[in-house]
Amino acid sequence: MNLKIPIFALIGMLFTTSMTWAADNKINSVRIWPSPDNTRIVLDLDDVPQYSYFPLKNPERLVIDIADTTGKFNFDGVQNDSDLLKKIRYSTAKNKQSIRLVLELNKNIKPNIFSLRPTAPYGNRLVIDLGDKDTGVASKSSPKSVVRYQDDEQSELPVIIAIDAGHGGEDPGSIGYAGSYEKNVTLAIGKALAELIDNEPGMKAIMVRDGDYYVGYGKRTDIARQHRANLFVSIHADAFTTPQPSGASVWVLSMRRADTELGRWLEKSEKHSELLGGAAEIIQSSRSDEVGLPQTIIGLTRDSSMTTSYEVSEGVIQELRKVTKLHKKRPQAASLAVLTSPDIPSILVETGFISNPKEEKNLNWSAHRQKLAKALHKAISDHFKHNPPHGTLLAKLKQNSRTHRVRSGESLSLLAQRYNVSVKNIKVANNLNTDVVRIGQVLTIPRS
Ligand SMILES: [Zn+2]
Repeated sequence: MNLKIPIFALIGMLFTTSMTWAADNKINSVRIWPSPDNTRIVLDLDDVPQYSYFPLKNPERLVIDIADTTGKFNFDGVQNDSDLLKKIRYSTAKNKQSIRLVLELNKNIKPNIFSLRPTAPYGNRLVIDLGDKDTGVASKSSPKSVVRYQDDEQSELPVIIAIDAGHGGEDPGSIGYAGSYEKNVTLAIGKALAELIDNEPGMKAIMVRDGDYYVGYGKRTDIARQHRANLFVSIHADAFTTPQPSGASVWVLSMRRADTELGRWLEKSEKHSELLGGAAEIIQSSRSDEVGLPQTIIGLTRDSSMTTSYEVSEGVIQELRKVTKLHKKRPQAASLAVLTSPDIPSILVETGFISNPKEEKNLNWSAHRQKLAKALHKAISDHFKHNPPHGTLLAKLKQNSRTHRVRSGESLSLLAQRYNVSVKNIKVANNLNTDVVRIGQVLTIPRS
C-alpha cells in the first residue's frame, strides 16, 4: 500500500468530489400557517426538492431528508402559532449533500407532503400538511340540512349564513395592481358581513375561515354543511391581465361549463388559485360535482337550492349597484370549484377588480368594505325575511305578524307593551336599527 500520495493530489480529489456532489438547493424561507384543525408548513427553495420522510415515536416527530441541499436556515425566527408543531430543527444528515429536518410534534399526526411548482408570488416549495387531510375532497358527512326541521315545528332556529372568505394562507388569490392580496380583502369583507349578520336577531354567521390559512374547496362547503348553513356566500375579488376591467359580479352554480368568455376565465383563474394553495396533484382526479351526497337527495334539493341561489344573487346585485360599479348586471353562472355543493344555496360574489388600480384602492379602504358588507347583508337578510326557512325564528315572526300604523305619542316600547311582544322582535320584523318610529309608519307586529 503506497501512502505517499502527494498532498496536492489529495486536495485535488476532495475538490473534485465536492464539485461533483455540489448541493445546490437551499431553503430560503419558511411559513407556518395554522388553521383550527391543521397546520401547513411551507419551505421556499431554490430548486425542486428531492425529499423523503418518516415518522418517529416517543416523542412524536417527523423526519424529512432533503437531498442536494445545504445551508443552515435559521428556524428560530419563524413565527409559529401552531398547536400541532412544537419546533423545527436540524439533525445529523444522511450524507454531506443533504439536510435532515426534524419536526417536533405535539401528537401523532399523519402528514401529507408534496412539492409545489413556482407560481407567483412564490417559487419552488415543499409543503408539509399536518392534521386532517385537506386535499379538497369533502369528507362523507350526512346531509343533515335536508332533514333539519322535520321534528322542529316549534323551534326558533337562527338562519345560518356560511361566509367563505376566498383563498387564504399560502394561496393569496389574485394580486392587485399595487400588490394587495385578494385573501386579505376577502377576509376583511367577510368579517364585516359576519358582524352585521350576528347583530341581527334570528340570523347567525359562520366563518368558513377566520384567519390567514388555506381551506380546501371541498372542506369549505363541508364546514357549511356541518353547521347546517341555509346559505353559502363565497367572497372574492376579481383580477384580469389588464388593469381596465372593473366592477362587481355575482355568480351562481352552473351544472354545465360556463358559456361566456368571462365565465371560462373565472373557472380557470379560480382553479388556478386552488393550485397555488392546494394539493396540486390531487385536484384533477378528486373533483366531483356532487360531493359526498346520494343522488336522490341531490335531485330533491338541487332545484330549490338553485332557485334560492338565483334569488339571493339578484338581490345582492340590486344592493351592490347602490354602492359600487357592476361588472355584470345579471347573475352569472359558472361551474366554480367552490360552488359545487348542490344541497346548499350558494353564491360567489366578486366584490370588484383588484387588478384595477382604483378598485384595489377601494377594496383596501375599510369604509368601502363596510359598504359592500352592508349591501350583502341587506340582500341576504331581506331574502330570508321574505322566505324564512321552516322552523326558524324568522319563519315564526313572519307567520305571526300583523300590522299597526303608528299614531302620535306612540313609541316602540309602548307598542311592545300593548301587543305583548318584545321591542327586539318588533325591530327584527321591521328591519329597524333604531328605536325611533314616525307617525304614520306601518309596522309589522309579530305575535309573541
Ligand atoms: Zn378569488
